[in-house]
Amino acid sequence: MNYKQILKKIKKYNDIVIARHIGADPDALGSTIGLKDIIKENFPNKNVYVVGNSSSRFRYLGIMDKLPEDTSNAVLIVTDTPDKKRVDGVNVDRFSYKIKIDHHPFIEEFCDIEWIDDTASSASQMIIEFALKCNLKIPKEAAEKLYVGVVGDTERFLHSYTTTKTFDLVSTLIKKTNIDFTSLYSRMYLRSLTDIRFNGFLASNLIVTENKLAYIKLDEKTLKEYNVDPSTAGNLINNFYNIDEILVIAFCSEDAGNNYIKCSIRSSGPIINEVASKFNGGGHALASGAKPKSFEEVDELLKQLDEECRKYIQNGG
Ligand code: AMP
Repeated sequence: MNYKQILKKIKKYNDIVIARHIGADPDALGSTIGLKDIIKENFPNKNVYVVGNSSSRFRYLGIMDKLPEDTSNAVLIVTDTPDKKRVDGVNVDRFSYKIKIDHHPFIEEFCDIEWIDDTASSASQMIIEFALKCNLKIPKEAAEKLYVGVVGDTERFLHSYTTTKTFDLVSTLIKKTNIDFTSLYSRMYLRSLTDIRFNGFLASNLIVTENKLAYIKLDEKTLKEYNVDPSTAGNLINNFYNIDEILVIAFCSEDAGNNYIKCSIRSSGPIINEVASKFNGGGHALASGAKPKSFEEVDELLKQLDEECRKYIQNGG
């Protein structure tokens, strides 16, 4: 990647809008807000806006800005988002110039510069790489957010897309900025007792098929009983890795307000994003999401995931 090309555009435009995908997570927020902090540190006179729906769960990473009314002379930088329809809070077509910085498998081209690295652990890792390659000053607050983004997407350096490059970049980031990185975990991994009780319910009620697909379907009534919102189950799915009897796991929570069932899916072998993409979803090969419209569609999604597990086992997986 020619990092200088991106830097040139940042230098050229006075108004810079930074966006990410809907359903914000630590990497989406860390990469956007971290990038804003870096641009402000190096180019204090620029107007930089981070946009998208705010998330109370991750408020500690920063708050969203109001999108300026006229963006026709602004540059848009989209991080962590492979396709136009998942960009949160902006009309992509209303910008003078667009830059994508993403680590998802390629879906579509919608920007003038597209820096896609699907071997990168996270979009936050790519922002660290960009800042270091361009010799930009990285303020402490940016380093903390980017660190949280990398840790969030790698699940504490657990997943296979954690590489020596990840460690090299993170190590340089810590050395340069001297952040107290272990102190960030207590806020990042703070849980409520409600979540812990709900986690117990999920563990006790998971259904596991003979092909090692585990799933749970959560209707609005159950979510209300446990006083949790539809995204809570999705956030808890990362507690269910490395279970001997499970190859693929799916948590499917009714989101009555939005008329879909929010499904979070994780795999320890079978590729799941192709199935997810048939149900208004997508994501990474082993970590995906989908939004089927009804529980009948959820059943079809689960049937296809089960089939992926069956084929995986049959092929010696
Ligand atoms: P989640 O289960 O929400 O943490 O999402 C896991 C991964 O799948 C992330 O990379 C998301 O960006 C992606 N993802 C989640 N939901 C969708 C969706 N409806 N469409 C496309 N990608 C999704």
